[in-house]
Amino acid sequence: MDIHEYQAKEILAALGVPMPRGGLAYSPEQAGYRARELGGSAWVVKAQIHSGGRGEAGGVKLCRFEEEVRDYAGTLFGRSLVTKQTGAQGKQVYRVWVEGASDIAQELYLGFVLDRKSERIMIVASAHGGMEIEDLAETDPDSLRRMVIDPAVGLAEYQARELAFGLGLRGGQVAQMVNILRACYRAYRDLDATMVEINPLVVTGTGDLVALDAKMSFDTNALYRRPQIAELRDPSQEDPRESHAADAGLAYVGLDGDIGCIINGAGLAMATMDMIKLAGGEPANFLDIGGGASPERVAQAFRTVLSDGNVSVILVNIFAGINRCDWVAEGVVKAYRAEKLTLPVVVRLAGTNVEEGRRIIAESGLPLITADTLAEAADKAVAARLDRAS
Ligand code: ADP
Ligand code: MG
Repeated sequence: MDIHEYQAKEILAALGVPMPRGGLAYSPEQAGYRARELGGSAWVVKAQIHSGGRGEAGGVKLCRFEEEVRDYAGTLFGRSLVTKQTGAQGKQVYRVWVEGASDIAQELYLGFVLDRKSERIMIVASAHGGMEIEDLAETDPDSLRRMVIDPAVGLAEYQARELAFGLGLRGGQVAQMVNILRACYRAYRDLDATMVEINPLVVTGTGDLVALDAKMSFDTNALYRRPQIAELRDPSQEDPRESHAADAGLAYVGLDGDIGCIINGAGLAMATMDMIKLAGGEPANFLDIGGGASPERVAQAFRTVLSDGNVSVILVNIFAGINRCDWVAEGVVKAYRAEKLTLPVVVRLAGTNVEEGRRIIAESGLPLITADTLAEAADKAVAARLDRAS
């Protein structure tokens, strides 16, 4: 789960990361008022959306007058901001953050991520920040420094100092960097984060380190024990299809194709998506309904897949181990009737009670297309889609 910049800043500021003073606004007038409240002679107005790359997309602006703050905020509210990371539909701006403008001498990159290879938290840092990490990795990979943290020891002081020196920091900056690194590590570890990023972390004209941006993501599976983090969820920033699925407790990821997928098991779901591609089609989603899918859950999965208007055919692929094919078949028949479906639905069942499942499908009298193998199911889904299109 992602959170907004201002929320991540609040968390990191409480742990001692230095950053400009700022305030949140829900209207242009409030933005102007925030600028007056903050004082000073220059402010940065920042669209709060769950995406980086806002600067390049016109979502971050330096303003020198209170009216400018208000007017610029006025152009952001209610607008869909399209960045490199949002996809063509963009993300809606409902909140803006106004903060004092910093005098920037240098922009650094600092990120904490999970390194799956070493199974540890890894720090990635660069003396050349500002741009997104993907671009940095492409254009300036040699500037990236990586450091892995031993979970038994935590982030050791010497490691933090070594990293600071490696970034070219000197004197008092080293101690400042050590504090920032420790704060980020604590935030990451203690809050079940999956990512903490400060980009840019700047060196100001007076030589101090200040965080101008902050991003955090959290492990959704740990939210049950982090209620104060779970509260930060902002459904307006989610793909509506995915919010729907999250509310239903389904593992769903929206994609751009038109073949809706209902599958049990993440591995089988991935394999099915590959087979669809191989057959010349494009999956509309990844969806894992899990092990013990009841008829109700199958019906819920249908509704989730159908909430995507692009879907023109649905492929149900169930390999029942824990599950039972007759249950799934019942769910498919129920959902087909309840949702008054007109789309072609391809069903491939295998495993426990498969004969019973096939019988239910066959005797339902519904125009369900059956398949015995995954390859056959993928071919039939692609063919059904072409039939519909023509
Ligand atoms: P994004 O990563 O989404 O583009 P950032 O918060 O990193 O958004 O802002 C983009 C750029 O705007 C930064 O790299 C920095 O150069 C500038 N910027 C952001 N906040 C401030 C600030 N408070 N003072 C001065 N410049 C800022
Ligand atoms: Mg940034």
